[in-house]
Amino acid sequence: MTIRLYNTLTRQKDALVPGDPNRVTMYVCGPTVYGRAHIGNARPAVVFDVLRRLLRHEYCADHVVYARNITDIDDKIIAKAAAEAVPIETITQRFEDFYLADMGALGVQPPDIAPHATTSIPAMVAMIAGLIDKGHAYAKDGHVLFDVAAFPDYGRLSRRPLDEMIAGARVEVAPYKRGPADFVLWKPSSDEQPGWDSPWGRGRPGWHIECSAMIAESFGETVDIHGGGLDLQFPHHENELAQSACAHGGAPLARIWMHNGFLSMGSTKMSKSLGNVVGVDDLLAAGWSGDVLRLALLSAHYRQPLEWTDELLEQIRARLERWQRRIGAFEPGTRAPPHPALVAALADDLNTPAALAALAETESDVATLLGSLAFLGLPGFGPGAASAPAETTAIVAIGGDSRDMADWIAARADARKRKDFAESDRIRDELAAKGIVLEDGPGGTTWRRA
Ligand code: AMP
Ligand code: ZN
Repeated sequence: MTIRLYNTLTRQKDALVPGDPNRVTMYVCGPTVYGRAHIGNARPAVVFDVLRRLLRHEYCADHVVYARNITDIDDKIIAKAAAEAVPIETITQRFEDFYLADMGALGVQPPDIAPHATTSIPAMVAMIAGLIDKGHAYAKDGHVLFDVAAFPDYGRLSRRPLDEMIAGARVEVAPYKRGPADFVLWKPSSDEQPGWDSPWGRGRPGWHIECSAMIAESFGETVDIHGGGLDLQFPHHENELAQSACAHGGAPLARIWMHNGFLSMGSTKMSKSLGNVVGVDDLLAAGWSGDVLRLALLSAHYRQPLEWTDELLEQIRARLERWQRRIGAFEPGTRAPPHPALVAALADDLNTPAALAALAETESDVATLLGSLAFLGLPGFGPGAASAPAETTAIVAIGGDSRDMADWIAARADARKRKDFAESDRIRDELAAKGIVLEDGPGGTTWRRA
């Protein structure tokens, strides 16, 4: 089956033709971890989780590699850490854990690779140095800037004239810039600010270079699918495209560029700066299940705007309750493969409204309904759902490595088997520091929250 996806670069639905069908690669720009995720932030997480499940279905699970980065160095993070008088790691760990837990509650599986900006600084420095060597960037006053004028293709992704882009992005006018659209690859850090040594002095990277360097590190020059929310199209993705093409002799950064539309509340884009936000945790605490929230996010096509209202949630809840009544108590073994029309609808640019319409027609076939809901990733209908839902899926980050609790327990058992007690103790202690207690019993190790 051919998967067709709307490509922002070509402005049409393109057939997905992976560079290597045995290693289909996808990179999605992840969160900047300094606050709790709102339900708008969850839209790309859920949309690309559905796409990942479709890719795994089409190409086999172990032939799909999905990376979603964590931006753990950023001025907002620095400001938050300063306000609390703690190191930035305290802030970034806390909100990465929250992010993974909130997304987990929506049935979003952790990515295969979760690159962290702070552990990829050498790759960024190398890429910046290469851009300077090739005449695409220049250093000035401790800053390094990308020279937009030296890349004639700039603006190809967002297809906006340069002056309009500059006005729209309210770009900063600064004495160290040659052109107003030139953007920062590296900037100096004061003594109080976190920083890394570089050929241009102690400093830290700009945001855009992060993804270009981490895509190259994870996947090489070109990734099959690159995604994020519509607001990332410009300037973030435009800048990533330019940097990577210039660093890699013109090789394209991505074969297909995908952007989800905005979730709005009160007819305005949900956004922290406007204040019209509702947290994923708030919605869960208000009693909406992860199933309702995920299905509500999937009720509109991902490229369309979606207005978030209580009526939408009520409607979705009623639909889910009707399905739940049909299904009744289920054994995981009764799950059939997803309805072919549902898979076909998803292969047509993730047409989730058509997929849900196909589901409505299969309501009487309980095994297929169940398999289809699991395929869409609804947490209450997936593997493990019949036994113990929420707490089997806890994802915990230690030292920048995010894993399911089952994996941490396995890693610790492994370390003990190797008699690497330093490592097994480290895992136990770091989990304990996060309020998770491991209990060794005759049946193996279990965990609970302290
Ligand atoms: P941020 O942490 O602000 O970089 O956002 C994380 C992701 O959420 C990015 O892919 C954004 O494009 C996306 N996003 C932010 N606000 C919304 C919204 N209201 N609707 C849909 N996606 C959004
Ligand atoms: Zn990015």
